[in-house]
Amino acid sequence: MELYKNQSLKIYNTLSGEKSIFTPIHEGNIGMYVCGPTVYSNVHLGNVRTFMSFDVIFRYLLHLDYKVRYVRNITDAGHLTDDGDVDNDRFVKQSRLEKLEPMEIVQKYSVDFHKVLDTFNFLPPTIEPTATGHILEQIELTQKLIDTGFAYVSNGSVYFDVFAYNKKGLNYGELSNRNIDELFANTRDLDGQSEKKNPQDFALWKNASPAHIMRWNSPWGEGFPGWHLECTAMSTKYLGETFDIHGGGMDLKFPHHECEVAQGKACNGHSPVNYWMHTNMLTMNGLRMSKSTGNYILPMELVTGDNNFFEKPFGPNIVRFCFLQAHYRSVLDISNDAMVASEKGYNRLMESYKLLPTLKASNSSSLDVVSWKQSCYDAMNDDFNTPILIAQLFEGARFINLVNDGTATLTADDIQLVTTTLSNFLFDVLGINNTTSGAASNTSEKLKGVVELLIEMRKQARINRDFALSDQIRDQLLALDIQLKDGKDGTTFTF
Ligand code: AMP
Ligand code: ZN
Repeated sequence: MELYKNQSLKIYNTLSGEKSIFTPIHEGNIGMYVCGPTVYSNVHLGNVRTFMSFDVIFRYLLHLDYKVRYVRNITDAGHLTDDGDVDNDRFVKQSRLEKLEPMEIVQKYSVDFHKVLDTFNFLPPTIEPTATGHILEQIELTQKLIDTGFAYVSNGSVYFDVFAYNKKGLNYGELSNRNIDELFANTRDLDGQSEKKNPQDFALWKNASPAHIMRWNSPWGEGFPGWHLECTAMSTKYLGETFDIHGGGMDLKFPHHECEVAQGKACNGHSPVNYWMHTNMLTMNGLRMSKSTGNYILPMELVTGDNNFFEKPFGPNIVRFCFLQAHYRSVLDISNDAMVASEKGYNRLMESYKLLPTLKASNSSSLDVVSWKQSCYDAMNDDFNTPILIAQLFEGARFINLVNDGTATLTADDIQLVTTTLSNFLFDVLGINNTTSGAASNTSEKLKGVVELLIEMRKQARINRDFALSDQIRDQLLALDIQLKDGKDGTTFTF
């Protein structure tokens, strides 16, 4: 029997503001859409946290034997910077900066994104559509919204008419709990005052200025789609007019997701999503991680140790473990101390796990492992509570240690149950990479040790005036992309 039939999963729904029992539209099947990255630069560790939360949610739904269609898009056009000016198209701006075609920018950072996901052992989504691959669908939706009186054309751009939408009693602001009248009073016009009827109206299609390279033909002239529309177009196409779960970071709730609700309701007459899920932010040293403030670290910089924030490298399993020790709806602050503590905890858990094959079975069990197993499910059933699950995994580790010490007993069947439960939750659900098991961190550590040894040998060579050898060490390390820097406090290195 499918596992989900025995478990009662509750999800916190941003739309209702409550946790409720999750019931998919079609029994046994789930449609889930998560807003993907805007690929105009490298994803930072904050982005990784959000995608990892949904990776674990996807993994748990699969573990419960649901058939999941998981769509995570790539935003490769149309996402404007905050001031909303057409000249601030992120891709166009970055392509000028790097002297590359906008689509070269898209390719470069899509490749980087996938590399990061691989490093951190993400499952691929079942569909990964791009905004530029769905221009026709976006034009069709825009036309539909114009035809039904929800949108208007202005100077070759098309705007969603929030006022008209609200006049029909459709309640713009319902997802982010905003009062529309306050919104009208407090928002300045971001897209060029003259073009919009109201400052709250948002662009479905933007007229491209002559300098704007990313452009497509449309009934309204050459232009490009608005950011909010791409997600409505792609989610409707692959998951239908109403689907089960829509996710993203909290910062996307307004305006992005609010606009998606409005677009869906205006197009189809009903709400597009049953469960809206929002992840909380990753902060570093107390401040939200973000590219614009400079308070960010790239995921690979944490793994290699090439950064100024952390004392040493931390492998992908440690990062995963650390992230999942916080609930996805709580803020998580990452710091050197937090990473070191996670590494210690992770190693302790894995050491106990490794004892499992060596445990001696008894005729009876003095520990209740069946209830313990259900506690692991209960944690995940309670809105994917990974910190509580991890606490339960430590409880499993405690059982192992007690049996190992001879303080408690387990039958062979119960040892097997502990083994299966721990493997399922650690590797399948939490996504710890069983094949590396923290080895990436160890490898980095070992490499660091080897380089330090070579630095010491080079120092000795210099003392002995053997400059040929000292230069050889430096040059051969450089050839391996390991750069030594001599400073007044000694030699440091980057790799
Ligand atoms: P973007 O590429 O900017 O659209 O962001 C991709 C995803 O990362 C979105 O779901 C954002 O909400 C999320 N995100 C951005 N910054 C952070 C952060 N500091 N912590 C967690 N998630 C974030
Ligand atoms: Zn989106």
